[in-house]
Amino acid sequence: MKILKHLFDNNREWSERIKAEDPAFFEKLSLQQAPEYLWIGCSDSRVPANQLTGLLPGDVFVHRNVANLVVHTDFNCLSVVQYAVEVLKVKHIIICGHYGCGGVLAAMQNKELGLIDNWLRNIKDICHKHEEALNAIEDQQTREDYMCELNVVEQVANLCHTTIVQNAWKQGQPLSVHGWVYGIKDGRLHDLDVCVTGMDQIPDVYRIFRQRILGEK
Ligand SMILES: [Zn+2]
Repeated sequence: MKILKHLFDNNREWSERIKAEDPAFFEKLSLQQAPEYLWIGCSDSRVPANQLTGLLPGDVFVHRNVANLVVHTDFNCLSVVQYAVEVLKVKHIIICGHYGCGGVLAAMQNKELGLIDNWLRNIKDICHKHEEALNAIEDQQTREDYMCELNVVEQVANLCHTTIVQNAWKQGQPLSVHGWVYGIKDGRLHDLDVCVTGMDQIPDVYRIFRQRILGEK
C-alpha cells in the first residue's frame, strides 16, 4: 500500500470532480497560467490562499513564509515577486496576515527558539518601532491582534519599497498592493485599507529614480 494513500485518493476524487464540471480544465491550465493575483501569506496550515478566497488552480500565484514577511534581502520572496510582476503581470499583490500568528506572537516574547529567531528579528523591529502604541493597549489579545495587523502594514510598505514594484509603476503597469488579515476563529478576511497603487503614495526617501542615482537632470 502506498504511504499516505488517502491523500492520493483525495487527489483523484478532486481532479475527477473538477473535470466533471469542466472537462478541459487541466488541459487549458497546462498550456499557460495567467493569474491576476500574487498572494504573500503565512505558512500556517490554517491559512490556505486558494480555499479561503474560493480561487481555483491558475487563479493565484503564491508565496508563503513564517509570518508573511517581505524582507529586502530574501531572494526567494523577491524572485517570486519579480516573476509575478514582470512575467505574469499580476494586477494585485495581497499580503495576508492572520490573527493568532505564531510567528508574530513568538516575536513579541523573549524566548530563544533557535535559527528562526533571526527571521523573527524582522518582526521584533516592528514591535520596537510601535512599542509605545502597543504598550498602551492593556488587553493582551487586543495587543496581539493589533501587532498582527501592524506586521501586515509594514510588509505592504516593504513590498512597495522594492525596485520591482516601483519599476512596474514607473512603466505605467497597473499594480495594487493590498494588506489583509484573516481571522482563524471565524474564517473571514478583513481589508486593512492600506492599499497602495502608485509611487506618489510612498514616502519620498524610499522612491527610487534612476536620474538621482546617476546624477542626471
Ligand atoms: Zn502565521
